[in-house]
Amino acid sequence: MSTAHRDPWLLTPGPLTTSAETKQAMLHDWGSRDATFIETNARVRRSLLKIANAEATHVCVPVQGSGTFAVEATLGTLIPKDGKALILINGAYGQRMIKILKYAGRASATYETAEDTPPDPKHLDALLSNDKAITHVLAVHCETTSGILNPIEAIAEVCAKHGKSLIVDAMSAFGAIALDATKVQYDAIMASSNKCLEGVPGMGFALIRKSVLEGCKGNAHALSLDLYDQWVAMEKNAQWRFTPPTHVIVAFDSAIQQFFAAGGITERYRRYKENRDLLISGMRALGFETLLPDHLQAPIIVTFKMPEDSKFDFEVFYDRLKDQGYVIYPGKLTVAPSFRIGCIGAIGTEQINGALRVIESVIQDMGVRDGRPAAA
Ligand SMILES: *Cc1c(COP(=O)(O)O)cnc(C)c1O
Repeated sequence: MSTAHRDPWLLTPGPLTTSAETKQAMLHDWGSRDATFIETNARVRRSLLKIANAEATHVCVPVQGSGTFAVEATLGTLIPKDGKALILINGAYGQRMIKILKYAGRASATYETAEDTPPDPKHLDALLSNDKAITHVLAVHCETTSGILNPIEAIAEVCAKHGKSLIVDAMSAFGAIALDATKVQYDAIMASSNKCLEGVPGMGFALIRKSVLEGCKGNAHALSLDLYDQWVAMEKNAQWRFTPPTHVIVAFDSAIQQFFAAGGITERYRRYKENRDLLISGMRALGFETLLPDHLQAPIIVTFKMPEDSKFDFEVFYDRLKDQGYVIYPGKLTVAPSFRIGCIGAIGTEQINGALRVIESVIQDMGVRDGRPAAA
């Protein structure tokens, strides 16, 4: 996090700012059969299981591509052709799972709440009692659309009670918000290299209950997304079926080692929470309001309502922040016009304070009175 850093700071949900050490790890070429690379790949898979305390129950299956590839691969591999999934939705990533199941030709039902409202486990309980055809429940841990933290522990309890298989898109929370497999019962969680573990983009992975994956042969709707086949092949010869993203994996290995050396999930959560709290208090001092009440706000990304002042122009605001070294993110909400600022990546209070100073001076230059949104 040196001041000689000349790339803009990415206050986004990924790709994120990575450390110099992580970038440096990529300055070599590896053959996919190279023994060092094979050992690195095995270490990454073991480490990911360790982060979730899932070594005894789950296996780690990586897949090339962005996070969505891992979600699509996991759903297609785990949900059989005659299965039916109930999708809990309160944002774009829940919506995306409907689309994925449509492409895969799997039956689905949905339980949708507003983007600022978590699902109610009692209602889930009733839905599962009423529709016996449901085999799987799909949930998003932190819905990055708003930054809301969904109650996975309570959802998992209801699923366990009904004997349903729970699959969690933990993409934007994995490594920062614990989802301990010895405490929370899930059959699979998915995440990617470029979110809270601060690697570079290019691979996703799923931690899948071994006893469940063993029964998934022939389920997948696409060869390249067949995680059963990927797993069996990787167990057999320690290699990826198709060209592995070698540089991404080696950078991810470095990022994960830095993660453990810094104090693991406890420390990552602490740093992101510190970033979030500083960001929110600084923005509130400028009149901005968050979409979410504090108790629903995950330490991942914060949604701010668009200011009411007619002199505020988001495009201008965004461009000026970027010119001064800070990249923020547009909103993706349907409930209210908004923009987002991320708390994750190789950044700390120095960068959040820097962003706040720039935001204050940019809105002053724009002639904006303050960040207050229109009354609801
Ligand atoms: C980032 C993210 C994904 C994956 O998005 P990609 O653009 O494919 O990497 C999926 N779910 C959630 C909740 C995410 O934050």
